[in-house]
Amino acid sequence: AKARGRNGYRFYAPSMTGEGVERLRLETFLRRSIEKEEVFLNYQPQVEIDTGKLIGVEALLRWNHPELGLVPPFRFIPLAEDTGFINQLGKWVLYEACRQMVRWQEAGLHVPKIAVNLSVKQFERGSIVSMVADILRETGLEPQRLQLEVTESVIMNTGDAMAFINDLHKIGVGLAIDDFGTGYSSLAYLKQLPVQTLKIDRSFIKDISTDVNDEAIAIAIIQLGKSMNLSVIAEGVETDEQAAFLLRHGCNQAQGYYYSRPVSPEDLLQRWKS
Ligand code: C2E
Ligand code: CA
Ligand code: CA
Ligand code: CA
Repeated sequence: AKARGRNGYRFYAPSMTGEGVERLRLETFLRRSIEKEEVFLNYQPQVEIDTGKLIGVEALLRWNHPELGLVPPFRFIPLAEDTGFINQLGKWVLYEACRQMVRWQEAGLHVPKIAVNLSVKQFERGSIVSMVADILRETGLEPQRLQLEVTESVIMNTGDAMAFINDLHKIGVGLAIDDFGTGYSSLAYLKQLPVQTLKIDRSFIKDISTDVNDEAIAIAIIQLGKSMNLSVIAEGVETDEQAAFLLRHGCNQAQGYYYSRPVSPEDLLQRWKS
């Protein structure tokens, strides 16, 4: 009863119902999560290391179900991808994130940029570009303040991804490669695509002061970014030492628990306004 592990639902359903039933139940709940207002976003600050200045936030999706409690993204996002529901969910996330930027602005907090995660499935429909354009128009957020995060697998696995990404660039939206270094080894796409940012994956940051290989990889990514004129941000920064290491090696942008966990929009406002 363990085979379909990627979705993680087996951890979720310890009981006698069987995983197929459990998955179906989760799927049924998930489909109603938007209308029942069970989903919401948390925002994790991105900071400039040497000054501590807020340079942006990443929107992270949360699902709080009345019976199940808070279901972690690694359990429901793969399920949403498998069922196609990610298209609705992804659209909701994008709209909500852009609107929140405007709300903060109205409340007196200027957040320079918002990063939103896109799933590979959202590139399979062909409507991604008009969806983004519509949401920007409806919310009034400047395209330059939106950065879409995609993984290398989005670029490599999706036939039309390159075309969509170029179109998104044309409307002024930024692009970051998420979890950089964990996907495909081909770097050729970097010179073909209008990428602005590389995000060094947390797995390389974790043991940075003890593992020479992780250290070498992090330094190589920073150098690659520099020589290609890309900005580089480290994710999962948890300690002072990690931040100091990054700064020493020329990476001045970070995101991680050392600075802040993902927080509610109210908490973000409270902490950064002033
Ligand atoms: P991700 O895009 O790599 O997001 C970063 C994850 O690392 C987040 O987990 C964040 O809470 C966590 N994190 C941040 N700083 C630290 C740190 O210092 N230490 C540790 N241990 N963890 C840290 P989260 O929120 O559970 O999200 C997990 C994944 O779910 C995300 O990974 C992303 O792939 C996916 N996800 C989240 N929201 C969305 C969404 O709106 N759309 C899509 N397609 N995927 C999403
Ligand atoms: Ca991300
Ligand atoms: Ca990431
Ligand atoms: Ca990661």
